[in-house]
Amino acid sequence: MSEKRVYTFGNGKAEGRADMRNLLGGKGANLAEMNLVGVPVPPGFTITTDVCTEYYEKGKDAVVALLKDDVERSMKLIEDTIGKKFGDPSNPLLVSVRSGARASMPGMMDTILNLGLNDEVVEGLAKKTDNPHFAWDSYRRFVQMYGDVVLGMKPVNKDDVDPFEAIIEQVKSQRGIKLDYELNVEELQQLVKLFKEAIKKQTGSDFPSDPVEQLWGAICAVFGSWMNKRAILYRKLNGIPDDWGTAVSVMAMVYGNMGETSATGVCFSRDAATGENIFNGEWLKNAQGEDVVSGVRTPQQITLEGSRRWAELQGVSEEERKSKYPSLEEEMPEVYKQLNEIQDKLEKHYHDMQDMEFTVQEGKLWFLQTRNGKRTGTAMVKIAMDLLKEGEIDEKTAIERCEPNKLDELLHPIFDKEALKHTHTLTHGLPASPGAATGQIVFFADDAAKWHADGHKVVMVRIETSPEDLAGMSAAEGILTARGGMTSHAAVVARGMGKCCVSGAGNIHVDYKKRTVEIHGQVFHEGDYISLNGSTGQVYEGEVKTRPAEVSGYFAELMDLCDKYTKLVVRTNADTPHDAEVAKSFGAVGIGLCRTEHMFFEAEKIKAMREMILADTTEDREKALAKLLPLQKKDFVGILKCMNGLPVNIRLLDPPLHEFVPHDEKGQKIMAEEMGVSIQKIKERVASLEEHNPMLGLRGCRLGIKFPEITKMQTKAILGAAIELKKQGLDPKPEIMVPLVGTYKELKLQKEVINKAAKEVFAEEGMELPFKVGTMIEIPRAALTADKIAEYAEYFSFGTNDLTQMTFGYSRDDINSFLPSYLSNKILDVDPFQVLDQEGVGQLIKSAVEKGHKTRPDLKCGICGEHGGEPSSVKFCHRAGLDYVSCSPFRVPIARLAAAQAAVEE
Ligand code: PEP
Ligand code: MG
Repeated sequence: MSEKRVYTFGNGKAEGRADMRNLLGGKGANLAEMNLVGVPVPPGFTITTDVCTEYYEKGKDAVVALLKDDVERSMKLIEDTIGKKFGDPSNPLLVSVRSGARASMPGMMDTILNLGLNDEVVEGLAKKTDNPHFAWDSYRRFVQMYGDVVLGMKPVNKDDVDPFEAIIEQVKSQRGIKLDYELNVEELQQLVKLFKEAIKKQTGSDFPSDPVEQLWGAICAVFGSWMNKRAILYRKLNGIPDDWGTAVSVMAMVYGNMGETSATGVCFSRDAATGENIFNGEWLKNAQGEDVVSGVRTPQQITLEGSRRWAELQGVSEEERKSKYPSLEEEMPEVYKQLNEIQDKLEKHYHDMQDMEFTVQEGKLWFLQTRNGKRTGTAMVKIAMDLLKEGEIDEKTAIERCEPNKLDELLHPIFDKEALKHTHTLTHGLPASPGAATGQIVFFADDAAKWHADGHKVVMVRIETSPEDLAGMSAAEGILTARGGMTSHAAVVARGMGKCCVSGAGNIHVDYKKRTVEIHGQVFHEGDYISLNGSTGQVYEGEVKTRPAEVSGYFAELMDLCDKYTKLVVRTNADTPHDAEVAKSFGAVGIGLCRTEHMFFEAEKIKAMREMILADTTEDREKALAKLLPLQKKDFVGILKCMNGLPVNIRLLDPPLHEFVPHDEKGQKIMAEEMGVSIQKIKERVASLEEHNPMLGLRGCRLGIKFPEITKMQTKAILGAAIELKKQGLDPKPEIMVPLVGTYKELKLQKEVINKAAKEVFAEEGMELPFKVGTMIEIPRAALTADKIAEYAEYFSFGTNDLTQMTFGYSRDDINSFLPSYLSNKILDVDPFQVLDQEGVGQLIKSAVEKGHKTRPDLKCGICGEHGGEPSSVKFCHRAGLDYVSCSPFRVPIARLAAAQAAVEE
């Protein structure tokens, strides 16, 4: 806990720095840093994230008492720097109060602007600025924001009407105007009066007129907003711990709404969607920050080039663009020049793409924020590789700049070019976040979540989105909005989530009541299919076929770079040549787990398998197995051929036999007919296979020990397949893996069966071939006795699915019945079946690796449980000294990046 609670900044000086983001939040740290770099920033101060923790421990009053002196001192400093006085009608200082966590959480917490206004101060401000409209507009915005955020007037349910918005609508309709900024001074005064009455009516208290009281209310409300529902959800989605807390930054207000020489905007030093090195952003003349992102007014482009591109996409003529939507570059060339210089300076200073907010007050440019910009997976890779080429960062930094899980976006399918030729383009909007999305239309966030839970793919269509829509956006395949630009809420959040988004499609008309959207006269209802191309902004009718993505261009360069540093290699879990092929194209260098049981679920094979299960004698069983052998061999030929020259680790039959027989009457009847036996016999056999704990029953090597002929058949099929390929001049590298071993004796016995079968097949084929025998380590006892097991195993593959199940004693199939309570009670931070439990399960892995190596120094160790594709688990595997991880094909690039990061971090 830091002793110092408040850090001031202003006029080129600051008590904080960029590397203090844990304490000052990203915003507070960068406001300090910008001062130190010489960027114009209004003076202010930041209250630390530690105080947020104190707020939740000690309560509001205690925290106010602790902060009082520091805040008074800091407010005085702002007053002196800027030459204005808080609460003084003759020369008033107004401030903004903003949240800022360690990791950026855009729009999730609260902000209060224009604080310090009351009935006297507003008059003073009007006089001082000679602009009563500006003063009263600021005042009505302040009362509204303060009412919503601090006094709890914001409606909780989507169907409830915001009391303030209702009042604004009422006043506007009385006067027959449409837009907020058309309200005149008397109407703004009327609004303030009505707002205050509404507050009194709903809360029972008067609106606080004392600026100091306002300030404390706002500071505490921002701390309070750390625990609002949407912030909690956002943290959950992004893996941000609840105990980090938010900082609070208080800063002198500057105004972008003081007339024609004032403006406000948001800009990026590179394109956050594509990663292209193009300065871009949006601005509005005579407006405040929220006007740009709220989607109420159409924001204009900052650069001329961007403006022309925008106009083309929107179908706006050059003439109309110039008169109605000119760029900042054209409108305020001097300001633009300075802005462009500073954005470049900030990017070079931070060596990363910056997302910046600025305000122009009567011709003077102020920066309000800079942060490393959120970006799509595509942009993430391109920017990292470009910065590397530009010499801004080194190779290791480029690897560390990429977030493994975000690569997932690059692996998502894209629209099939052929299919697109036959698709009708309905309209287009802005390409806010790339990707291909196809799904059924829904209009509300909770419907999106519900439909998604029921197994539907949905596209959420909204006039605009707000932070309340987060859960729905996360559940949807894509988001389409009628309003809002590239920096609208929908666009920013979708890019952060890697979700496809088309925003600002002006030609769509959404009717929430009827649950329809009309596009050029065509009406679509909830449930109709629609498709979005987030890379071009196109909106298509119906479902459009997609095809798999490929690793090429920058992505391939990044992967090559990873290979330069990585120590762990990445294999894949694949049971079919198709999956193996996909994984190979993503860079897998072998198969770490081929689950042979998955090969039995085809009609012919399941029949032979059932005959084997039904057999009463070894002889009958061998007959059935003889039928299975050529079928299995064919499978192995396919997979070994595809992975020619690379190791293929094939696991002997693992699951309990009851998984192969039907449990319903109808299925049993069909099986009886097929097998030519009575249904009674089938029923008896099914009953005899039933177990109380099938996961702990007759499965894994226990099957091979009870029925060695199964192990023999599988060995002959594997090695027979390999020999067949070898005879064709190929280079198959089979490995045979024994599952669910708990004692070395099990492995010893199975190995004898394997070696005997190998001899037989070599003699039959007249050819020998090297192969390895290894085991899964997935039972705690196996991990604990790994030294003995290593005497018989040439390699270990950690089956962390079962190892987690048996170490925790949680059923891997039923954890969801109690996981939510375990998460909310903080017994677990994450699902241990997704993220490896390094503390417990990890200990078993580490010690097994050590023990195994003592017995057999060249023992190869890998992991093939689900964790093999999860970044933090992959990094653990690196540290534990494993040789490889194996994961599903689409996780291969993610694991490659995580493995390289682990090596770089070391
Ligand atoms: C494991 O247990 O981690 C494993 C890979 O095997 P399976 O999931 O097939 O039980
Ligand atoms: Mg297992």
